[in-house]
Amino acid sequence: MYTGIFDTHAHYADSAFDADRETLLRSLPSEGVDCVMLAGCSTEDSRACIALAERYPHVWCAVGIHPEQVDALPPDWCEQLCSMAAHEKVCAIGEIGLDYHYEGYDRDLEHTILGIQLRLAKELDLPVILHIRDAMGDALELLRSMRPRGVVHCFSGSAETARELVSLGLYIGIGGVLTYKNARKVVQAVEIIPEDRLVFETDCPYLAPVPYRGKRCDSRMIAAVAERAAEIRHTDAQSLIRIAAENGRRLFDID
Ligand SMILES: [Zn+2]
Repeated sequence: MYTGIFDTHAHYADSAFDADRETLLRSLPSEGVDCVMLAGCSTEDSRACIALAERYPHVWCAVGIHPEQVDALPPDWCEQLCSMAAHEKVCAIGEIGLDYHYEGYDRDLEHTILGIQLRLAKELDLPVILHIRDAMGDALELLRSMRPRGVVHCFSGSAETARELVSLGLYIGIGGVLTYKNARKVVQAVEIIPEDRLVFETDCPYLAPVPYRGKRCDSRMIAAVAERAAEIRHTDAQSLIRIAAENGRRLFDID
């Protein structure tokens, strides 16, 4: 069993955990997972993340509006995020970003809401957790001009894109996608990500790594991601887990 796992991106407020959330979260430290960062997707979800973080010493959280949630915002959403961000367990603004995967989303609105949240993070001196799907060109443009500190979560891009994000000062979140058969590009990225910029994540309940693919994901499964990353980088999984956890603590300013 590995020790010192930091899952830098999880959604334990999701209804997929309704049946066993308490037991699972409480058991994580004894399973080697001693730090979990919850990402908020809406004002309600962010509030639920804070409520969970309050109950477990090993759970922390971020508050934010996910790009797929921008069309139904309460008018005072930004004030709500701002006051939630003052909570002692809130370490970041996220997850925020751009998602062009499905047709029919309002890209201009996604852009506006992301810009407001990047400014909020700057004002509050907090890192951001970025969700960027099929929108890297536009995202890079905004990141180059606004220069937030933070992490690009669920990275699935090329080595070239990873290099560019690292040069902007960002961390790269690597999760279950690395273990999938079609992960050629992200494998090449994992080869070159500097050791001090790599963090591990699950995005649970989604994206369970092989050999759990299709099952409900949870933070313990990071072991499978770390093993694949260690194989790619010719090192051992436990040292990578330790280094990635140190990176995560530095990124989110957790002791
Ligand atoms: Zn997420």
